[in-house]
Amino acid sequence: MQSLKLEWDENLLNKYDVSGPRYTSYPTALEFSDEYMQSDYITCLENIAQDKSLSLYIHIPFCQNICYYCACNKVITKDKSKTIQYVENLVREIQLVSSHLKAKTLKQIHWGGGTPTYLSMKQIALIMDTIRTCFDVPDDVSTEVSIEVDPRALAITDIKVLAQMGFNRMSMGVQDFDPKVQQSINRIQSFEITRDLINEARKHGFRSINLDLIYGLPLQTRETFAATLDKVIQISPDRISVFNYAHLPHRFKPQRRIKSAELPTPVEKLAIFAYIIDKLQQSGYCYIGMDHFAKPDDELAIAQNNQQLHRNFQGYTTHEEYELIGVGVSAIGSLNGQYHQNVREVDSYYHLLEQGQLPTWRGASMTFDDTIRKNVIFDLICHFYLDINQIETRYHINFKTYFSRELKMLQPLIEDKLITYSGDSIQVFAKGRLLIRNICMTFDAYLNELQEIRCFSKVI
Ligand code: SF4
Repeated sequence: MQSLKLEWDENLLNKYDVSGPRYTSYPTALEFSDEYMQSDYITCLENIAQDKSLSLYIHIPFCQNICYYCACNKVITKDKSKTIQYVENLVREIQLVSSHLKAKTLKQIHWGGGTPTYLSMKQIALIMDTIRTCFDVPDDVSTEVSIEVDPRALAITDIKVLAQMGFNRMSMGVQDFDPKVQQSINRIQSFEITRDLINEARKHGFRSINLDLIYGLPLQTRETFAATLDKVIQISPDRISVFNYAHLPHRFKPQRRIKSAELPTPVEKLAIFAYIIDKLQQSGYCYIGMDHFAKPDDELAIAQNNQQLHRNFQGYTTHEEYELIGVGVSAIGSLNGQYHQNVREVDSYYHLLEQGQLPTWRGASMTFDDTIRKNVIFDLICHFYLDINQIETRYHINFKTYFSRELKMLQPLIEDKLITYSGDSIQVFAKGRLLIRNICMTFDAYLNELQEIRCFSKVI
């Protein structure tokens, strides 16, 4: 099995240090329009063929405490009674969505947040029962049922309960194990509690366990992060995601509580990132792409080797062919060539569902051009390779003519040996892989406005 290697070239990383989308969708959510109506969504649901398999994303927005770095859509509250109305409406939404669908086979379920485990086990069980009543969920290991877990909001005994409900994949936020860094971001979480939960999860059959880390947080240095990585490697998760902290206090209010003076300098941040890449590769992790690493025997690494890796709102996935439905506030779905997003505020969410309406906020219907560009961008981001003949055959276009402007824009990247273009293919070299977002941005038809670029996080 081959593992993708990365090559570190600091000059090039500095040269191409711009902001860019993470491409969990194309067009990105910034292009979604609020002219997309509930009736568009209903038509879209009703047009999904009966034999299509489905994937369901469930968003739980509640968290007990605020993490200062957080940019997610969440509701911070210690009052658990606030979840009652949310769960009632979530159940309503699942029933309503399923009533518009002929397709019923659900092959992938993902709970994200916020903090899904903020709900009680009883509430989670009620939602899972609703899902099983409304859909056919095959009872085998190929059905992925995953949950994002906050170790601070889950009793170790609940792991067994989650396994009994059918959960078999888990992702856990860690960010950093250094006590001072944890204090500066208001997220105190011991190594022991994290390790014990993961060991317990393995005992109960959870696979592809993922840990999330963040670099660029206050008080982090290469040395402190090296100690964190040592602990992570000791736990030995199947997957590791290492996100770049984007400090945007003007956009995300909680980040105003982070002291800018305590943030690592750009030079230190790059040194931390270089260390992460080196350490994880030395420890046997394969680079999957963007911020993701996985053990060679993990499903993601296998899918990448078999050219079967795909991308959706949860990041990299092994299942693109499924139609993705999002439920809960701000949840995004991708189905039948359209994107759909729910309203962001819980009050609007309750109001619409209590009137028997779907909580549509906005969406996008993909044009033919969007479809081609999505294919190009997702092939590059998942495989670091684009088969031009395949694109020409699939869409009946002449690539060189259709993308003449883009091919000119790729010239500096070719000269810097980030990629090679042969006429039949585009291949991303080892030192271009960390700059994959820049390469994909060339094919993004919506990125002409500098203003839009500023809305995204830095690529490194
Ligand atoms: S990082 Fe996660 S746990 Fe922390 S506030 Fe954000 S959503 Fe909640």
